[in-house]
Amino acid sequence: MRYSDSMARSAEHLRAALPLMTKQRAALHPTSYAVWYEFVSGRNPRLNQALQIHTAGGNTLDEQQTWAMYREHVCELDPALGGRIADGFSQVLDSMAASAAQAGQESARFDTSLSAWVEQLLSNPPPQAQADVLQELLCGTREIRGALSDLQQRLDSSQGEIHSLREEVQRARGEALLDALTGLANRRAFDQQLQQCISAPMADAAQAPCLVLGDIDFFKQINDSYGHAFGDRVLRAVAQTLKNVAEQTAITEQAGAIGAAKAATIAARVGGEEFAMLLPTGNLQQAQAMAETMRSSVAAGRIRRGDSAQDIKRVTISLGVAQMSAGDCAETFFKRADRALYASKHTGRNCVTVLAAA
Ligand code: GH3
Ligand code: MG
Ligand code: MG
Repeated sequence: MRYSDSMARSAEHLRAALPLMTKQRAALHPTSYAVWYEFVSGRNPRLNQALQIHTAGGNTLDEQQTWAMYREHVCELDPALGGRIADGFSQVLDSMAASAAQAGQESARFDTSLSAWVEQLLSNPPPQAQADVLQELLCGTREIRGALSDLQQRLDSSQGEIHSLREEVQRARGEALLDALTGLANRRAFDQQLQQCISAPMADAAQAPCLVLGDIDFFKQINDSYGHAFGDRVLRAVAQTLKNVAEQTAITEQAGAIGAAKAATIAARVGGEEFAMLLPTGNLQQAQAMAETMRSSVAAGRIRRGDSAQDIKRVTISLGVAQMSAGDCAETFFKRADRALYASKHTGRNCVTVLAAA
């Protein structure tokens, strides 16, 4: 395990890392936390050296540089680290929030006891000789009450900061599974879902998960003819179409299911102009029908170029469909769908091929 610091140690690192993190231009997410946590813990001399070079003369790290540091000096050492860092960060924040709340309660109790004590003293006036001492004590008590109320306010505002940091961590975790360009699930999220499908026990081979792979036809030409930015617009439009069809399919599946609701179909961008749709349950005919709707919807769409009223040549997509079989691992299942897609490319594109398990 890479991080085995005690709670006290990790809280110390958190306190030291936070001001460094907030100085940078990158957002406050678990990845930048990992980089600065490693830095303050001093466990990673190569990272520290690289950071010292990058931040020399008051330079700060942007999003890209932070991720590069993470990939080169942190993640490379331990690829499963990302998830654990997010968990660890959340735990430290939780524990800080709990300590702040506890300190707040204790200070409130102390404040109540002090007030009661002062009142009691005032209701039984002491002999003259002790009046000055008591007066001083009273002033001191008021000062302490003031300081306690300041502390309470500061604790309340740290609670707010901790809360927004927690939200930031949760948002960053969600974003780590999304493709930034299209908003679909990304390759990592897809791989996780695929692995889950493979690991789940298969009750009925006819209802086993199905995989649909899609690849935009002649996409390079679109880029070459109309530019990369327009290519990106095409990717977003196609992604939206695939997502809509996948969601409709999920609703139909659920409406058709008696009793338990079925898991939704996920649509992911798994490569440059490549997409994957995973139907956790269903059958090959349903998957084929979904792929066919995707193909015809993409072909029917028209994407405008800038302000010009002129439509571009239509965009088409080729698709391959396969169903998981008992002996499959993630790789063999994916490869069968990929062979089906390849067959569609060879048959002339803008079509769907279904490949049954051998
Ligand atoms: P085929 O019909 O055989 O699939 O041909 P193709 O041109 O679609 O396939 P090819 O693999 O030759 O080209 C894919 C292109 O996708 C090349 C690459 O520049 C482009 N691409 C990959 N990612 C992106 C991206 O994020 N944005 C844009 N605009 N283009 C991308
Ligand atoms: Mg391709
Ligand atoms: Mg292509």
